[in-house]
Amino acid sequence: MRARLSTASAVLALASLPAFAADRPISADDARALEIFRTIISMRTAEGRGQVPAMAAYLAGELKKAGFAKKDVEIRRTGETAALVARYRGDGSSGKKPILFLAHMDVVDALPEDWELNPFELTEKDGYFFGRGVTDNKYGVANLTQTFIRLKKEGFVPDRDLIIVFTGDEESSMVTTRALAADPALAAAEFALNTDAGGGSLGPDGAPFVYAVQAAEKTYADFELTATNPGGHSSRPRPDNAIYDLAAAIEKVRSLRFPVMSNEITRQAFAATGASLGGDLGKAMIAFSKNPKDIKSAERIAADPAYVGMTRTTCVATQLKAGHAPNALPQTATANVNCRIFPGMTVDEVRSALANAVGDERIAVKVIDEPTVSPISPPREDVLGAVAKAVHARYPGTPVITYMESGGTDGMHFRIAGVPTYGASAIVMKEEDGFAHGLNERLPVDAFFGGLEHWSIIIKELAGRKGVSSAP
Ligand SMILES: [Zn+2]
Repeated sequence: MRARLSTASAVLALASLPAFAADRPISADDARALEIFRTIISMRTAEGRGQVPAMAAYLAGELKKAGFAKKDVEIRRTGETAALVARYRGDGSSGKKPILFLAHMDVVDALPEDWELNPFELTEKDGYFFGRGVTDNKYGVANLTQTFIRLKKEGFVPDRDLIIVFTGDEESSMVTTRALAADPALAAAEFALNTDAGGGSLGPDGAPFVYAVQAAEKTYADFELTATNPGGHSSRPRPDNAIYDLAAAIEKVRSLRFPVMSNEITRQAFAATGASLGGDLGKAMIAFSKNPKDIKSAERIAADPAYVGMTRTTCVATQLKAGHAPNALPQTATANVNCRIFPGMTVDEVRSALANAVGDERIAVKVIDEPTVSPISPPREDVLGAVAKAVHARYPGTPVITYMESGGTDGMHFRIAGVPTYGASAIVMKEEDGFAHGLNERLPVDAFFGGLEHWSIIIKELAGRKGVSSAP
C-alpha cells in the first residue's frame, strides 16, 4: 500500500470510490488523476480525427486551474494536431538546465466495431482499465499532468525548470516532435525523460523481474529492391524474368549477416540481464558484455528470438509486389526489406551492404523516405539513481538497467537535437498484458495507481532543493 496516503484523504475519496478500489484507500489526488485519464481516453486523438487540440486545451485548462501561469502553458497548433508545452518554474537555485518530460497525446486509431469494449471510453473490468491509449501513451500524459498539478498544490518549488512536452503525432509523422526538438528553449534542456518507453516487467508470478530505462533506439529504415524486365507474353517465356531475378536477390538478403556490434548500453543490459537469467543464455550474455569480440557468445544471444536484434543490424524481407497480369511476363518485381540499424552504422552503409549481397547490377536498391538516425544517450548516474528510487519505493531490490529499443519514439528527435533522452515509464506489468497498438489495449488497475508517485519521486530527486526535498 502506498505510504503517503493519509486516512483523511482516504475518507475524502470514499464518495467517488470506484468499484475496483473498494479494498484500498484512494486519495483525492488519485481520483483526480483517474478523472484526467478518463477524460483524455474519451478523446479520439488518432491521426486525421482532429481531436488532439481539444485534448491539449483540456490539459492546459487543468494546469492553469492548478496555478500554472498562462504564459507558461502553451498550445502549439500544427495542421490538424497540436503540441502542449508547460513550464514548471524553478527558483534556479541549482543553476542547472531544465529537464523535459515527454509524452504523446495522439494514439493509433482503433475501430470500435472490432473491440469488445468501446476503445474511446475508459472501462474497468477484471482488474484492468481498457481503452485506446491506456498504455500508449495516455497514462504517461495523465500521470505527468497529475504530478505537476499535485506538486504545485503541495507548494513544491523545483531548483530548476521542469517542462512538460506533449507531442501530437508521435504515431504518424512526428512533425510536432521535430518542431519541438528544434525549439532552442527546449533543446537547451540538460536531458529529457520519456514516459513512452522503458518500464518494469513482472514475471508470470507477479514478482518484479527487471526495470529497464530506454537510452538508445535502433534506426528504422525500409529499402526497396526492384527488378525490371521488358516482359512480354507469358506463352513465350524468356530466360531473364523480373520475379526470378528478384527471388534470387531476396535469397541473398536472407543470408546476409551484419557484423556484431555493441555499445555501453547493450553491454550493461547484457551484464544485468545475463546475471538474472542465468543458464546457457545468461552465461553468453555475461561473456559478451565483458568481451564484445566474443562472436560465439554473440551468436548464442542472437539465436534467441527475444534478443535477435540486440547484437547487430538486422534486415528482413517484409513485402512483395510483382507482375501486372496472370498471362504476362512481369515487367517489375519489388520487395520491401525492413532494416533496424544498430547505432553507429549509417543508412548508406546498410544500402551498400544490401547491394553487395545481391551482387546483381540489374536489381535497384533504394532507401525509402529519410530514416532518422539518433545517437545513444550515455547512462547518467543521477537519472538512473532517481529512477531506481522511484522503482524501489514499489519494488525494492529490482535491478534497474538501460536498454536499446528497436525504435522508435519521440526520443530520437530530442537525442538528435543534443538532448540525451531516457525512457522511464511508470508502468510495471507483465509482458503478456502489453496490447499497445492492438485490440483491447489494457492497463492493470494496480499499475495505474501504483505508478502515480513515480514521477514525483523522480522530480524530487532531480530537482528538489537541498534540505527541502522530502523523501516520498
Ligand atoms: Zn507511444
